This record gives sequence, structure tokens and C-alpha cells, in this order.
Amino acid sequence: MSQNLETRCVHGGSHRFPDGRDSISMPIYQTATFAHPDLGHSPDRFYYTRLTNPTRNYLEETVSSLEGAGDTVAFTSGMAAIAAVFELFAPGDRIVCSSDLYGGTVLLFDLVSRKNGLVLDFVDTADADALASAMAPDVKAIYIETPSNPMMNVTDIRLCAEFAKKQGALLIVDNTFLSPYFQNPIALGADLVVHSGTKYLGGHNDTLAGFVCCADAALSQRIRRISSATGGLLAPFDSWLMLRGIKTLAVRMERAQENARAIAAFLQTHPRVTRVHYVGLPDHPGYEVNARQSRGSGAMLSFAVDSHETALQVLEKVKIITFAESLGGPESLITLPVTQTHADVPEEEREKLGITDSLLRLSVGIENAQDLIEDLRQAMA
Ligand SMILES: *Cc1c(COP(=O)(O)O)cnc(C)c1O
Repeated sequence: MSQNLETRCVHGGSHRFPDGRDSISMPIYQTATFAHPDLGHSPDRFYYTRLTNPTRNYLEETVSSLEGAGDTVAFTSGMAAIAAVFELFAPGDRIVCSSDLYGGTVLLFDLVSRKNGLVLDFVDTADADALASAMAPDVKAIYIETPSNPMMNVTDIRLCAEFAKKQGALLIVDNTFLSPYFQNPIALGADLVVHSGTKYLGGHNDTLAGFVCCADAALSQRIRRISSATGGLLAPFDSWLMLRGIKTLAVRMERAQENARAIAAFLQTHPRVTRVHYVGLPDHPGYEVNARQSRGSGAMLSFAVDSHETALQVLEKVKIITFAESLGGPESLITLPVTQTHADVPEEEREKLGITDSLLRLSVGIENAQDLIEDLRQAMA
């Protein structure tokens, strides 16, 4: 029987676990290694926890089930997952990426990928013409985030998949912002999906994790070989924390989205707010594409206020909402991208993207919507 997403969040890959004890919660296999049955026979599935571990495997099956992936590999952080993906490429390979990627990914490119000989072209992937003209014959992959961070630009995943397929390049999608609850890029033609599990999947602002979800077995074998060699796989206890977080993914996402819609509507009417970027607003330029390729608009938004001073005032005066980086947890968090998440992006590039010193990014949590609105109202007074 095929199960709906909410059920798969709770029950993961299968109802019963291999130890035969029918525990409802997956046990934490807190062991580094496993005994060989006898001389000449290797353990059939589990040898050593850097390679495989039952708790991590169960988590990987659960995330595969949510993303519609053939296989998933769980890493110690989103960045460890993304770094493993970029080990698939060789010197001279050209990769087309969204111009407003997560700051950490840009740092990885600058510090590691370029040194390894990769050629990275940053383009506005939300613009179909810009994307078409970037598709040189030596492009080996397209790497996108949609909606993007912090400008909430929407890229057409199906269109990217078409461009990629035409020349045998991979399409890689960072699906952190909408989570598998709202968006499944593999069903739209992506080859690899990456997640910062630290955000919505874990969902409690207490654990770091990352995932690489692979459309097919050949890719997953390559990612598993790379991860075994580089060793960034998720620990058993953190795997269990992720499993616990995922059980409530559906209810958290629904509630956070409901709150985000109410807050976006409030911000649109506030005299000190000059612009609201939220993909759930019908006047957002990416509204239609997002509606075609996802089941929701999520709970991330950004907004511009009338001055840098107002932005600083908001950060200082919010009481429930916390001035902190990260996103996707129960607690609403607010940041000033220009000095925090995007401080490494050159000023000229930031201006082009619209990341000004009066732009605030809000990760809407699951508190009471009216309390959050009142908090923003008093902070902007
Ligand atoms: C946080 C984040 C990452 C990096 O994940 P970590 O778990 O912090 O390493 C990558 N992509 C996006 C979109 C993120 O928000």
C-alpha cells in the first residue's frame, strides 16, 4: 500500500526493525564496529559505522522515502553533504549555479572547488534565457536552490532538468528551504537533492546533519564510495535525533507556513516595510513556477525596511523572535544577511542581487502567529 507523506514522516522506511524486538522508536546502535560471524564470513550488512550503521541506515531509508530517492546518504552537516557531491567532478568540469546560493556553498566553491580545478559560472537561473546561454558544451552540472536565499528567487526545476539531460549533465538541487514535505525535485528530473538536515528535517535547532538523495543506484554508489573515503557520515545518536525530528515534519511545516502567510500579509501593510519577498504572495515573480513545482511556499521570507537604522532597530527590539542565524526550527529567527549569512559575498554582487543593508530575513517558527506579528509591530514602532 502506498502511503501518504505524513504517514511516511512518522513510520519511515518500514514499521519493524531488524532486531526483532518491535521497539516503536528505532534503537541507537551506538557502536563503532560489528563482529564477523566466523572466519571467512564477513558481516552481511554492517562492518564499521563509518560505512554503515543500522540507525543511520533507517534514517537514510526514511529520507529516501520522503524525497522519492533511490538512495540517500546522511552526513554530519549540510556542508559535508554538498562537499561530497562536488567530489564527483574533475578538474576542468564546468558547473552552472544559481547566483544567490547559500553563503557556505559559495565559500566551499571559493576555498575548495576552484582549487580542485572546477569552473563555476554564477547565473540568474530564474531567468530561462540566462540559463540557456550559460549551457556551454563542457557544463557537467547545474546546481540550484529554489526558493533561493535570501531573495526567494524561484528557478524552474523541470526546465533545468531539460537543459541538463540534453547534454548529459547532472541537475543538483538544494531542497533545504521547502523540505521534502513541500517539494520533491527528483520527481521533476533532478539527479541529486541535497539538504541541510539541520533545518526543517531535524527541525529543532539542536542537531547538525546533511543529506544527499540520489535518483539512481549508479550515482548513489559513487556518493557512498566518496563518503566512505572522506568519512563525513552522521553519528548514530544524531541519526536518531533526525528521525525524531522527521516524525513531526508535516505538522511543523504546515504550521510554520500558516504563520508565514499571516506575517507576510501583515508586513505588506506596514508603513516601514518597503518590500516583502515571499513565494506565497501572488505578486511574487516566482509565484506561478513555485506553485507548479511544489506543494507549498514554506516559511522563509525576507523583507526590506525603510532604512538600515530601522533594520538594526528590529534586530535589537524583537523579544520572541531571536536575532540568530539558521532556520527551520520551532523558534522564529531573524537575520541581517548583509552582515551575516552573505558577508562573504562581494558588495557589488550583493547590490546586484538586492541584498541591501535594510533587508531582513525571517525564518518563521511555530509559535502563535499573532504573538509574532505583535513582536514585529512593536520592534518597528
Ligand atoms: C544551512 C544551509 C546549508 C548548510 O548546512 P549546514 O547543516 O549548516 O552545514 C546549505 N544550504 C542551505 C540552503 C542552508 O540553509
